[in-house]
Amino acid sequence: MTDSAPRSAIVIGAGLGGLASAMRLGAKGYDVTVLDRLDLPGGRGSSITQGGHRFDLGPTIVTVPQGLRDLWAACGRDFDSDVTLKPMDPFYEIRWPDGSSFTMRDDAQAMEAEVARLSPGDVTGYHQFLRDAEARYWFGYEDLGRRPMNRLWDLVKVLPKFAWYRADRSVYAHAARRFRDERLRFAFSFHPLFIGGDPFRVTSMYALVSHLEKAFGVHYAMGGVQAIARAMAGVIRDQGGQLRMGVEVDEIMVQGGRAAGVRLTDGAEIRADIVVSNADAGHTYTRLLRNRPKRRWSDAKLRRTRWSMGLYVWYFGTRGTRAMWRDVGHHSIVVGPRYRDHIGDIFIRGHLADDMSLYVHRPSVTDPSVAPAGDDTFYVLSPVPHLGHDNGVDWTQEAEPYRRKMLAILEERLLPGLSERVTESLVFTPESFRDRYLSPLGAGFSIEPRILQSAWFRPHNVSEELPGLYLAGAGTHPGAGVPGVIGTAEVLAQLVPDAAPAAPLRMAAE
Ligand SMILES: Cc1cc2nc3c(=O)[nH]c(=O)nc-3n(C[C@H](O)[C@H](O)[C@H](O)COP(=O)(O)OP(=O)(O)OC[C@H]3O[C@@H](n4cnc5c(N)ncnc54)[C@H](O)[C@@H]3O)c2cc1C
Repeated sequence: MTDSAPRSAIVIGAGLGGLASAMRLGAKGYDVTVLDRLDLPGGRGSSITQGGHRFDLGPTIVTVPQGLRDLWAACGRDFDSDVTLKPMDPFYEIRWPDGSSFTMRDDAQAMEAEVARLSPGDVTGYHQFLRDAEARYWFGYEDLGRRPMNRLWDLVKVLPKFAWYRADRSVYAHAARRFRDERLRFAFSFHPLFIGGDPFRVTSMYALVSHLEKAFGVHYAMGGVQAIARAMAGVIRDQGGQLRMGVEVDEIMVQGGRAAGVRLTDGAEIRADIVVSNADAGHTYTRLLRNRPKRRWSDAKLRRTRWSMGLYVWYFGTRGTRAMWRDVGHHSIVVGPRYRDHIGDIFIRGHLADDMSLYVHRPSVTDPSVAPAGDDTFYVLSPVPHLGHDNGVDWTQEAEPYRRKMLAILEERLLPGLSERVTESLVFTPESFRDRYLSPLGAGFSIEPRILQSAWFRPHNVSEELPGLYLAGAGTHPGAGVPGVIGTAEVLAQLVPDAAPAAPLRMAAE
């Protein structure tokens, strides 16, 4: 590192937050090198192909495409020329054990009719809920979520608004004030689970997700989120940046009290003027910066931190089923018999329950590229405790029995005859998240987005521990989810200085 303006940047991790950061840094004139231990870019948004089935491992729902369009535009590019987004309608279907269901749709009148079908008395509350969601969107997403929150003053200034919006109240408590029907309370409060939050404890600011869906729709990226990650990698290369896959960073190097580059696990050193870590914030501080004393993010503080839940995901392919299960669309939620208690088992008690609530992804109804002709590709996700509870689950013992319980529920409630049809199978437990993404406690979404772990309270995008180090991705501000981590790069770009101009090319005669 030099004392002059920075010029080169290393990004540790090719997750969506890391790729977006690399694009933003490339646009600011940096020479960027992205390093990731996996074989494909995308992190949780990468894929594994097995037996002709492409399993998109993580995000499936793309909301707020404008965030991606803004990112591309910041690089002088057009997102829609590189990626095809398909709007979904219906968005998703929710099914309860009593046989009732609720379909979340794009059309406002159809939505009102759907609410009225389940609970006519809740239509007024529904409209009020949407107004609440929109107000929270303007404050929480467009204002707080798009600017740095690394100075305490940034937080202090917005505290009155937090109080006004009753940010201390949980999403579920907020939904319960607007809806009498317990099913509608579920339908309008479960969303934080998709960014790792307990709906009974995360701030009601997250009600804003209902506005995101209503205002911007729900989209699927043709080719999966993997196609977005590949397109991001393409932009980085076009900017002159490099992606090196299959390399793991062992430590962030420090020189003269600043980040000076990284050392890989094979001992090779790569120097750079600034380092951006898209590795989990916990991994960054406990492992990659292990030899430096920490003022804020000590190992003890990270142990006290509340982490998001773990995920059990069963990816499977089925033969000759494309014409079967005609009432099962692209996104389904199969709700279990318990809500509050079940969430308590997962987040508080760390107990692996026999019952489950499942999110079922069937991309083959939209995207034929995911499966051989006539076949289906699925994944089924169940939130489970992370690996940090005292009564930890032994996944080497539990993974297969849990899959069989999941299969039985699917056969009974959604996909009759499934067991006869499965050809490919791949299971991810929290241990897979720990080992593949180096995710602390195998958490699905890094640090839980509780109010005292959000905004200024989250690890900052400009490191509190080391000058020249920046953080992007789910564990930093504004947080997890595709729009969230794309947002971390937008915030980061406001904090990183512009790169020094490139040295003029020397003529051979000089
Ligand atoms: C199953 C699942 C479903 C989801 N569904 C949705 C959804 O529908 N919609 C939505 O918006 N969000 C969804 N999410 C959330 C979203 O996918 C994530 O929040 C987001 O992709 C995380 O991005 P990230 O930038 O934090 O990086 P990550 O994806 O966590 O990537 C970090 C990268 O860093 C690499 N790395 C870590 N340490 C090192 C090291 N030392 N050296 C080299 N490389 C390293 C890892 O290999 C990884 O590739 C889902 C997540 C999961 C898991």
